[in-house]
Amino acid sequence: MYDLESYLATLSTGVVFENPKHYYQEAAKLKRLQKQLSRKKKGSNRRFKARMKVARQHNRIANLRNNTLHHITTYLSKNHAKVVIEDLNVAGMMANHKLAKAIADCGFHEFRRQIEYKCRKFGSELMVISRWYPSSKTCSTCGNIQDMPLEKRTYDCCSCGISIDCDLNASLNISRLA
Ligand SMILES: [Zn+2]
Repeated sequence: MYDLESYLATLSTGVVFENPKHYYQEAAKLKRLQKQLSRKKKGSNRRFKARMKVARQHNRIANLRNNTLHHITTYLSKNHAKVVIEDLNVAGMMANHKLAKAIADCGFHEFRRQIEYKCRKFGSELMVISRWYPSSKTCSTCGNIQDMPLEKRTYDCCSCGISIDCDLNASLNISRLA
């Protein structure tokens, strides 16, 4: 199954950061609480209490996500002299309903904010490449460019025949621009 949320970041070094396991439990709990809220009578005290529970759970998940992002951005800025990231076309991806939730959960803007100040702090160079660079469509081995549907998880090059994880392929392309 295609699940963008499980992989938060893939580095050109092959290091992959995943969402922590308990994140899914908390997300499932949020769904349950939202369902309970929708069943409560409008204006009732029970509805108010249910809404408070939903708000608290939202907050809990946001904190979890921030901790994970901090873990990733610290690792990147502390261990690499040069960090290259792609300026994601978040608005464009949000228009794709399937991806909207995943992108929102990944918190790209928060990631960007953290990586910027940490690179300054640890003296690493941060390079942001254009969102229009076809990092996903380009073969990192032979340079061939082909269409890549977003739900496809491997890049199968029709030119040189290599089959590679699509996130790793994209990050290799991005790292070469440095
Ligand atoms: Zn190729």
